[in-house]
Amino acid sequence: MEVAYTCQAAPGGRPNDDFVIATERYVVVLDGATAPAGVDSGCIHDVPWLVAQLGTHLARMLSTEKAAPLVEVLRSGIEATMASHADTCDLTNRDSPSTTVAILRRDAELLEYAVLGDSAVIVEQHDGELVVGHDDRTSYLPAYTVEAVSRARNTEEGFWIASVQPEAADRAVTGAIPVSAVSSAAVMTDGITRLVERYGWSWADLLKRLESHGPAQLVEDIRAEERATPAGTFRGKVHDDATAVFCRF
Ligand SMILES: [Zn+2]
Repeated sequence: MEVAYTCQAAPGGRPNDDFVIATERYVVVLDGATAPAGVDSGCIHDVPWLVAQLGTHLARMLSTEKAAPLVEVLRSGIEATMASHADTCDLTNRDSPSTTVAILRRDAELLEYAVLGDSAVIVEQHDGELVVGHDDRTSYLPAYTVEAVSRARNTEEGFWIASVQPEAADRAVTGAIPVSAVSSAAVMTDGITRLVERYGWSWADLLKRLESHGPAQLVEDIRAEERATPAGTFRGKVHDDATAVFCRF
């Protein structure tokens, strides 16, 4: 698996809350959630700390326990991350920092993925068919106030994300495709998938652009779309941190 990626903070000088680790065998992409101003998270750490902790715990498991099921890897990663701040922070706080997770792993037979939150994995097969591993539950919340999103987090009625509930791992969107059938794959945060969700691209357009022009060009495409879109015509941030990983087989 040949891997190319970009991981860029949103314009404006804030820290990058996205995180990526890739080897020839796996890709881990995280997108930490920025805490709303004034919310007590019970945690002394910032979001870049959280994604670095979980990202490196996941990479260690994926490197050393190669046969562990991805959901188990995810659960262990969340538990290890919780242990990293159990002594300093209140892990019973429902607003503890959180992050999406997307894992892609290839072994001799299978290409597997697990996605928690609104990051995405797209796999293109030799016959042109696309497999889309994407959880869009955050697009269908009853309300988007700070309180409503907090209440919806890690509940059956809301959405699932990596934070201080290891059982969230069981709600990941998972799948497996024979490696022999795969031609390429992409792993992305929602800073990239907004090309599809906000700007009307198809997943196939996005993958084709990644393959022909590379991950950094995709971020330039997004910044151009963002600058051209009038305020008030969409929900959410004008710019977001953006991570795109392209894997060629
Ligand atoms: Zn903490």
